[in-house]
Amino acid sequence: MSQDEIPVKLVSSYEKDLHWLRGNLHTHTTMSDGAREPETVIKDYEAREYDFLSLSDHDVLVNPDAYRSITKMTLIPGVEITANGPHILHVNPQSIVSPHEDRQKVLDEVGLQPESFAVLNHPNWLAPLPDLHFSDDHMRRLTGHLGIEIYNGVIERLSGSAVATDRWDRLLSNGLRVWGFGHDDSHTAEDVGLSWVMVQGPDSDADSILSALRAGRFYSSTGVDITSIQVKENRVAVYTSNATRIRFITKWGVIQKSIESQAADYILPDDPKQARALKYIRIECYGGGCDVAWTQPIWIE
Ligand SMILES: [Zn+2]
Ligand SMILES: [Zn+2]
Repeated sequence: MSQDEIPVKLVSSYEKDLHWLRGNLHTHTTMSDGAREPETVIKDYEAREYDFLSLSDHDVLVNPDAYRSITKMTLIPGVEITANGPHILHVNPQSIVSPHEDRQKVLDEVGLQPESFAVLNHPNWLAPLPDLHFSDDHMRRLTGHLGIEIYNGVIERLSGSAVATDRWDRLLSNGLRVWGFGHDDSHTAEDVGLSWVMVQGPDSDADSILSALRAGRFYSSTGVDITSIQVKENRVAVYTSNATRIRFITKWGVIQKSIESQAADYILPDDPKQARALKYIRIECYGGGCDVAWTQPIWIE
């Protein structure tokens, strides 16, 4: 049997029946340039029924142990590596990584802390103006990160584009397996609740959340709730509580199917060669206003 005849199947780590936990991994406080004290920020997210939160100040590691007694949320350590180049979120660091100008060196040192991982932040921010925060070339060369921000709330009020799914599709199509993260990047009260990740635990402790993130068992949202993502052989189905349109997107950002519905499915082409050429399927679920939920790519193997 030639490669072109071997049947393909869809591979994802979403589970049918696990419940979802809501969290934000990119948050600033007065420990760097945020407007509010860590206690106030934590109370705000807790009041909005978040399950987990990471305070990720610029080049400062805020120890969550100091705040665990004031919240039921799971607090995950974080740092936004900021000085000397484009920003990289370091999730669950044991210690601060030097902000080397060579960002590959930063990612390599993050990799020496195996419990932690890196996310490339706000690639479509125009900083320094008029250039992209991460150029396409720079992003294509970097390795070792878990994902990129596909939505960053604070860029709504700054130059450039908060959404970076265009950059994501280019990386995925070039063969990089990176997850898409939605974050507030909150600096003020107005920035809270713009975008979040929904993680399939199964449990709400930090280890469980971090391993789900690592496996891509999460989606990002600005307001649409996905209730279930079901993948079996050559079919993927998504169910939401409030989407009005669902789009299935493959290699190079090509929309294969777009349907006005709260739930939808997509079946791979029968021809294995044709199916394999699509490389991945990711799903965008649109709701009212600017609300979207983005699933992780589901690989075609
Ligand atoms: Zn930043
Ligand atoms: Zn930030």
